[in-house]
Amino acid sequence: MEGTGIRIGNHLSSSRGYAAMGRAAVKLGADTFAFFTRNPRGGAAKAVVPEDVKKFLDIAEKENFGKLVAHAPYTMNLCAAREEVRSFSLEMIGDDLRRMEYIPGNYYNFHPGSHVGQGTKAGIAGIADALNKVLKKEQTTTVLLETMAGKGSEVGGNFAELREILDRVEQRDKLGVCFDTCHVWDSGYDIAGRLDEVLEEFDRIIGLERLCAVHFNDSMNPCGSRRDRHARIGEGCIGAEAMRRVAQHPLLTGRPFILETPNDDEGYRREIALVRAWTRTENKPVFPDGLC
Ligand code: FE
Ligand code: FE
Ligand code: ZN
Repeated sequence: MEGTGIRIGNHLSSSRGYAAMGRAAVKLGADTFAFFTRNPRGGAAKAVVPEDVKKFLDIAEKENFGKLVAHAPYTMNLCAAREEVRSFSLEMIGDDLRRMEYIPGNYYNFHPGSHVGQGTKAGIAGIADALNKVLKKEQTTTVLLETMAGKGSEVGGNFAELREILDRVEQRDKLGVCFDTCHVWDSGYDIAGRLDEVLEEFDRIIGLERLCAVHFNDSMNPCGSRRDRHARIGEGCIGAEAMRRVAQHPLLTGRPFILETPNDDEGYRREIALVRAWTRTENKPVFPDGLC
């Protein structure tokens, strides 16, 4: 994908394996994608098939894919109030990270968790505890905390909470953040009116070197609504102009952009083409050094 300043793709079904996802991505014009590491509602993960992985890695190399952004199941809650849910979540993330090593060097994104009445402090401590148990020096996967809309008792609805988690994790070099445009908007960051200031704030509190991936979604609700309902690009409250400025922002260059918009294949193909048109440059993209 020479000549474009962005890596972009959408969320794909993992039910037919890695090679099938690679082929589906190419068909849609994508050069990265997201997928659930197991059923999003939880449960056992399918065994990794080495031949399938090999086929996928060939496609990824030939097509010059950027890093993939795997997504943990929604049922995972590392700071749940109930001990069974916490220990099951810990097992899931451990197992997912072991299986991610079949496709080395990609991202694994998860929702930090919901404190379900225990309070934000306890939530942050629980999430950090779990990460301290599960992150390994030798892993090649970078684990991403997703910025959340702040609905219910979600932890991670502002940059400071993510910073607090990071501060408590020893193996912090394995941690980054996935910036979800719908979620940050819903949680009250006005990326339509004050994008530069929001990114500055992110940099001051977390550090832009940790912003490894973007979930590129418009929002059905106004800024600060804490609702978390994704809209198609340009059809929501953030709007096309503001979404274009996010895609074109020089501080976000080189990160994989993942669409989690309500679309069919044709809709994704159109949105991928749109974002590519917005970010086309004469020069090859400059990918950031360091963590990401
Ligand atoms: Fe998510
Ligand atoms: Fe997201
Ligand atoms: Zn969402």
